[in-house]
Amino acid sequence: MCEEKEVRSRHFIEQAIDKDLADGVYSHVQTRFPPEPNGYLHIGHAKSILLNYGLAQEYGGKFNLRFDDTNPTKEKTELVESIIEDVKWLGADYEDRLFFASNYFQQMYDCAVKLIKDGKAYVCDLSADEIREYRGTLTEPGKNSPYRDRSVEENLRLFEEMKSGVIEDGARVLRAKIDMASPNINMRDPILYRVAHMTHHNTGDAWCIYPMYDFAHPIEDAIEHITHSICTLEFEDHRPLYDWVVRECGFEEPPRQIEFAKLYIKNVVTGKRYIKKLVEDGIVDGWDDPRLVSISGLRRRGYTPESIKMFVDLAGVSKSQSVAELPMLEYCIREDLKLKKPRLMAILDPVKLVIDNYPEGQIEWLDAANNLENEELGSRKLPFGRELFIERDDFMEEPPKKYYRLYPGNEVRLMNAYFVTCTGFEKDADGRVSVIHCAYDPATKSGSGFEGRKVKGTIHWVEATQAGFATVRLYENIVDEENGMFKEDGTLNLNPNSLVVKENCPVEPALMQARAGEQFQFVRNGFFCADYKDSREGAPVFNRIVSLKSSFKLPVQ
Ligand code: ATP
Ligand code: MG
Repeated sequence: MCEEKEVRSRHFIEQAIDKDLADGVYSHVQTRFPPEPNGYLHIGHAKSILLNYGLAQEYGGKFNLRFDDTNPTKEKTELVESIIEDVKWLGADYEDRLFFASNYFQQMYDCAVKLIKDGKAYVCDLSADEIREYRGTLTEPGKNSPYRDRSVEENLRLFEEMKSGVIEDGARVLRAKIDMASPNINMRDPILYRVAHMTHHNTGDAWCIYPMYDFAHPIEDAIEHITHSICTLEFEDHRPLYDWVVRECGFEEPPRQIEFAKLYIKNVVTGKRYIKKLVEDGIVDGWDDPRLVSISGLRRRGYTPESIKMFVDLAGVSKSQSVAELPMLEYCIREDLKLKKPRLMAILDPVKLVIDNYPEGQIEWLDAANNLENEELGSRKLPFGRELFIERDDFMEEPPKKYYRLYPGNEVRLMNAYFVTCTGFEKDADGRVSVIHCAYDPATKSGSGFEGRKVKGTIHWVEATQAGFATVRLYENIVDEENGMFKEDGTLNLNPNSLVVKENCPVEPALMQARAGEQFQFVRNGFFCADYKDSREGAPVFNRIVSLKSSFKLPVQ
C-alpha cells in the first residue's frame, strides 16, 4: 500500500492543501467529520471519515469528530453511540477531540448579535411562504423584504424577543442582509435563525431559537480551528455563504470549504433515507442487516476496516460524480482476508459419501495446513473416517465433458486426505441421490509424497461423526441488479433471493469454536464470518461475506 501511495498522484484536495500551506494561508491542517445524529453511518460516510482522518494524518494535523446536533429533532443518544462505535472501528482516532455543535449555541448567538450590530442581519416578519415568494427564481432576482431596513436597535430588541420565548414558531426569523439580486439564491438574505419551541437533547429548553445549518456549520468549523472543511458537492453553491459567515463574524484564520463527489455504488442502496426505509418496511433485519452497506451492516457481514479503506482509496477522491462498483468492494475484502484467514471445510449442500473399504468406526486425525499461501497460520488436526459429507454438486450421475469431480468410475482427491474412486450411488424415493459409494487408496494419503498417478479433481468434505452443524446465510444484493435500482413507481426493485438460509450445514470441528465476528475462508465456498448477534455456543451462524469468484480486475495504474 505504501508504494501505491507514492506512485498515485495527489488528488485535488491534497493539492489545495499543499498550496494553502505553501502560501502560508494556514500553518497547520485540521479536519473534521461532522455527522448529524439522525441515522446510522454508511459506506459513503466511511469515505468522508477516512478522507478527513487520512488528511489529518498525512499532514500531521488533527481530526475532530463533531456531532452536528443543532437541529432539535429526534436526535438520539443511541445514534451518537453507534456513530462513535463506527468511527472508532474504522480506525479514525479522534483522541479526545469529540465535540457537539450544540455546545456552541451561545457563540452562534453572539455571532448573530454581532451581525445585527454590524448591520449585516435583520429580523424579518414575512411568513415562510412570503419569504419563498420574495426570494425570486433562478432567472428572476428576488425582492427586498419590507423589514430589511429595520434599525440596529429594533433588530436587537426583536431578536432578543425571539430568544426570550414570546414569539411563536415561524412568526419571525433572523436573516442575513446580503443581496436579494444575487445570481446565487443562497445569498439572497438567507435565514440564520428560526424560532422553534422544542426541547433539545443536549441543551434541553435553554433555547427556543435554533441556527440554520448554513449559519451554524461555518461557525462550528471556525470555533474548532478547522482549516479545511471538506464536504460533498451539494454544498458547492453554499460556499459563498460559508465564506460570508466566517468573514462577517470576524474569525481569524477562517476555515475553507472544499467539496468532493459523494461515493455511490452502482445498484447498491446507500443514503440514509433509503436505508431507513428498508429498515422501517421490515425488508431488512435492522440497520446492521448484513445486506446493507451501513457500517454496522458491513461489520456484521464480516468486512474489515482495512477492506473498506482499500475500497475508498481505490474509488479515489474527485470533484466529478462517479459510481463505484460492488465487485470492487468485494475484491477488497477478498484481498484483505485471503492470506490472513484459515481455509477450512464446510458443506453448504450436503450429500453422504461412504468409503466402503475404510474400517468402520475408525477416525484418523490428519494434519491440514490452515492456509497454503501463509505458513504462519499453522495447521490443524482434521478428522477423517468412513462416512463423509461432500457438496451435492460435486457428484454427477452422468457428467458432461470436462467434469472432473465424482461420477461413477472416476477418481478424485479428497482435499488433505486420500484419492477415492466412485463405485456407485443410491437414490431415495424421490429419485434424489442420497448416498455415494467409493473406495479409497491408502497409498495416496496427502503429504505422503505419493506420485503414482494424478487426478484432475479435488473436492472438499467433512467427516460425518465429528462434524458440527451450523447455519449458513448466503447473501445477494438487496436490489435486483438485472433490472436496475428502481421500478417505474420509484420504489426499489427488490431481489427476492437477497437472503438464503442454509440450516444444518456440516462443518469441520474447528469451525464450531468460531468466535463472534471471526472470519474464515470456507474452501471453495467463499469467505464467511461468524455472526455476532445470532451465533450461540455450539450453534454458530455464518454469514457469507463474499464468494471466491471475482469479476473485478484492478485497473492498471
Ligand atoms: P445521506 O446522504 O445518507 O443522507 P448525510 O449527508 O445526510 O447522509 P450527514 O450526517 O449530514 O449525512 O453527513 C456527514 C458527512 O458525511 C457529511 O460531510 C457528508 O457530506 C458526508 N457524506 C454523506 N454521504 C456521503 C457519501 N455518499 N459519500 C461521501 N461522503 C458522504
Ligand atoms: Mg445531512
